[in-house]
Amino acid sequence: MELTDRNAAWREELRKSMSNKDRTNIVRVKMTELDGEYRSHNSEEVNQGLTKEQALLEAKRCLDCPKPSCMTGCPVSINIPSFIKNIERGEFLGAAKVLKMTSALPAVCGRVCPQEKQCESQCMYVKMKKEPVAIGYLERFAADYARENDTKKAAPSIKKNGIKIAVVGSGPAGLSFAGDMIKKGYDVTVFEALHEIGGVLKYGIPEFRLPNHIVDVEIENLKKMGVHFQTDCIVGKTISVDQLEKQGFKGIFVASGAGLPNFMNIPGENLINIMSSNEYLTRVNLMDAANPTTDTPINLGKNVLVVGGGNTAMDSCRTAKRLGANVTLVYRRSEAEMPARLEEVKHAKEEGIRFLTLHNPLEYIGDETGAVKQAVLQVMKLGEPDASGRRSPVPVEGETITIDVDQVVVAVGVSPNPLVPKSIEGLELGRKNTIAVNEGMQSSRPDLYAGGDIVRGGATVILAMGDGRRAAENMHKQLSL
Ligand code: FAD
Repeated sequence: MELTDRNAAWREELRKSMSNKDRTNIVRVKMTELDGEYRSHNSEEVNQGLTKEQALLEAKRCLDCPKPSCMTGCPVSINIPSFIKNIERGEFLGAAKVLKMTSALPAVCGRVCPQEKQCESQCMYVKMKKEPVAIGYLERFAADYARENDTKKAAPSIKKNGIKIAVVGSGPAGLSFAGDMIKKGYDVTVFEALHEIGGVLKYGIPEFRLPNHIVDVEIENLKKMGVHFQTDCIVGKTISVDQLEKQGFKGIFVASGAGLPNFMNIPGENLINIMSSNEYLTRVNLMDAANPTTDTPINLGKNVLVVGGGNTAMDSCRTAKRLGANVTLVYRRSEAEMPARLEEVKHAKEEGIRFLTLHNPLEYIGDETGAVKQAVLQVMKLGEPDASGRRSPVPVEGETITIDVDQVVVAVGVSPNPLVPKSIEGLELGRKNTIAVNEGMQSSRPDLYAGGDIVRGGATVILAMGDGRRAAENMHKQLSL
């Protein structure tokens, strides 16, 4: 195809138009960000996106390698050089088309993928000891451009086949699956437990990182194409999988995520004002709980402790900061081992979050009302690498510190909620109530496929989205036999 053919005349000409030396001399673009102090009081999106001029210049840095190593770093193998070269020649809509061939949600992935660990970590520039091409920024640019400028977005005319398909959960896995199946002609209904559609993209990742309107556009597109959404419907409680089958659903895709928070099970963890990051973020993001006049407001802490080092921990810290708290992040390893995206760590620091690394909560102490008032933290040091490849945290015997806190948000990982897997008879489960699937995302019940965090445990948006696409392809093959 013209847009992706590396040997197309336009692409060969583009490569010849500039020497590799000149390309590698261009300095990586810096995305404009809101000032740290200003943004720590509001929910405006921190990253402001690239201008056309910035995108055109950054696209020139890409060397259009014959064997693009960046693609090996992308979990869904997006054709990265092709979309970037389309940007370089000014074909921004073409670039977005290339992205959409593989990724259902490029505007989301451009904002939240851990590019520094994936595509950008494999970029040729890294081998040259230079900063990699800003692939994530360019992805976001192309997707945003298409959203704002593509006037020919009319829903494609789809020939319906009348076969009913159910999707459990409306996160990135469920949405990408629904999009692919509706385009293949199926009659698709998404059942969502919450009152909002979007999964973690809505209830977890805050507005200042991923504005809701970006996700809403994708949801609206799916609705226009004919996907039905049924909210406030808990599969396994409101309706069972067997009932769905009886209602004539010929295929079911379970994408119910990993919404069960882990706790540390340490003394005092049940004190008032200690909660999981899931509860904290969901209540603030979806239920307006920071507003004291709502039905179910949360207490707003003044000295908030957030426990963990992943994206969820960063989102919790930065949310608490925006709600007016002094925030301390406590993490048991050092900053180098933090699983959060580098950018989130940088942004959190700029916004004034205090990082207390190599510390780990031992216990919480309550006041006379049963509310948390102090946290006792164990001082840690780094030992040998553990199974995750990261240096393991080891307690420094006898060394603790005690700090005053009035709210604690625990962000130490999530597990799949057992409700759906346990409610389905005969379903083979994996570790920690994940659903076991084969290569094609098919479970031990032939009509039931699964993907995203319910299969992987807490993972990433791009992996969830990729699973949705793979499941759609394979379910379609099975139903076409
Ligand atoms: P989810 O997004 O969890 O969606 C599952 C949906 O299923 C939910 O809407 C849930 O309500 C619904 N559901 C559950 N049970 C039922 C039921 N019984 N019936 C009906 N519906 C049900 N990943 C990144 O790549 N980059 C990031 O920056 C990043 N930041 C994150 C920040 C936070 C705060 C969190 C929590 C996660 C983050 N992640 C990030 C991880 C990423 O969001 C998840 O891996 C991804 O959303 C998983 O997608 P999913 O579709 O499998 O599940």
